[in-house]
Amino acid sequence: MTERAEGLRPETIAAAHGVASDVAFGAIAPPLYLSSTYEFAGFEQPRAYDYGRAANPTRDLLATALAKLEGGAGAILTASGMAALDLIVSRLPAGAVVIAPHDCYGGTMRLLKAREQLGQVSLRLVDQRDGDAVAAVLSGAPALMLIETPSNPLLRVVDIAALAARAKAAGAAVAVDNTFLSPALQRPLALGADYVIHSTTKYLNGHSDVIGGAVVAADAEQAASLSQWANIVGCGGSPFDAWLTLRGLRTLFPRMRQQQANAMAIARMLSDHPAVSAVHYPGLETHPDHALAARQQQGFGAMLSFDLAGGAAAAKRLVAALRVFTFAESLGGVESLIVHPATMTHADMGDDARRVAGIGEGLLRVSVGIEAEHDLIEDMKAGLAAC
Ligand SMILES: *Cc1c(COP(=O)(O)O)cnc(C)c1O
Repeated sequence: MTERAEGLRPETIAAAHGVASDVAFGAIAPPLYLSSTYEFAGFEQPRAYDYGRAANPTRDLLATALAKLEGGAGAILTASGMAALDLIVSRLPAGAVVIAPHDCYGGTMRLLKAREQLGQVSLRLVDQRDGDAVAAVLSGAPALMLIETPSNPLLRVVDIAALAARAKAAGAAVAVDNTFLSPALQRPLALGADYVIHSTTKYLNGHSDVIGGAVVAADAEQAASLSQWANIVGCGGSPFDAWLTLRGLRTLFPRMRQQQANAMAIARMLSDHPAVSAVHYPGLETHPDHALAARQQQGFGAMLSFDLAGGAAAAKRLVAALRVFTFAESLGGVESLIVHPATMTHADMGDDARRVAGIGEGLLRVSVGIEAEHDLIEDMKAGLAAC
């Protein structure tokens, strides 16, 4: 696919951006450039690349693909999702007010609290579904509002367009963590966000073999400024990780289709099972944010969670009986994973905060993979029979 090909559908960009772009040998798969430094063409004649911290051709290829998929002006690849978030946060002026969801990703919470403890930002945690609470924090001259939807692990959905409009009216920049859906299913920049943050570790790479992150900026000047900041602090992602992630991105759309179809089937089965007291999946008509998710997203995604009536003891027995699902943290890979948030991903929150957030002892969160639906359903049924 030539660089001149414009106006292409996202599926085509994911599958073919950079294919056959190699000028040396006409390689179909884009080459991996590991070199840390580049020869000057002559005195005062730098070429497109000079030093690997500043920019790298393999990383740039992935960055351009992600920027196109999110509808942004540019993207910056970082060493992790946390480094992507920190690329935005660490560039804020000292004491800047940052608004974040009270139920944001645990690592995000830890990073923001750590920066607050050092006096670098002033953090306002708020339930973004609560209009009055949002109005109160917006009156405090915020510099940045972070949005994360759907939430982890209860899959609550917030209205990106409405929140972004209010935040921007209050003078705040808006960053949306789009890790749980990927640009295949949600495009926050089109809904008014200034930045999209990704843990590329999850759906974008999709094979559980890379830790990486990305920031996509709507505005070209902001993209250039963030790129410069990434060079200053030296947090860019490695070329090999970018190469693997571009390889993973090729199949983003078909993976997502299969994963969310499997997730819907599992959610329906769980809804009808007597051992299950609640299922949290936005694709179910009974989910409180179903209508909003249907409007805002291009699909319901492949993350879900459910409560077992039998509590922690039942969760322990269920997990021990599974053969197809693997008991592990993280998400977004081709293989199905299951976690017990109260003792794993959300253990650091503490009992009280978990209770307030609605994360019970019998809650299990599933990242649904691309395996045969039949095998996933039968495996989950066997687990439920054991609990
Ligand atoms: C995993 C994750 C992150 C952090 O990404 P890392 O690549 O692990 O640093 C941030 N946000 C969400 C929603 C995540 O799931």
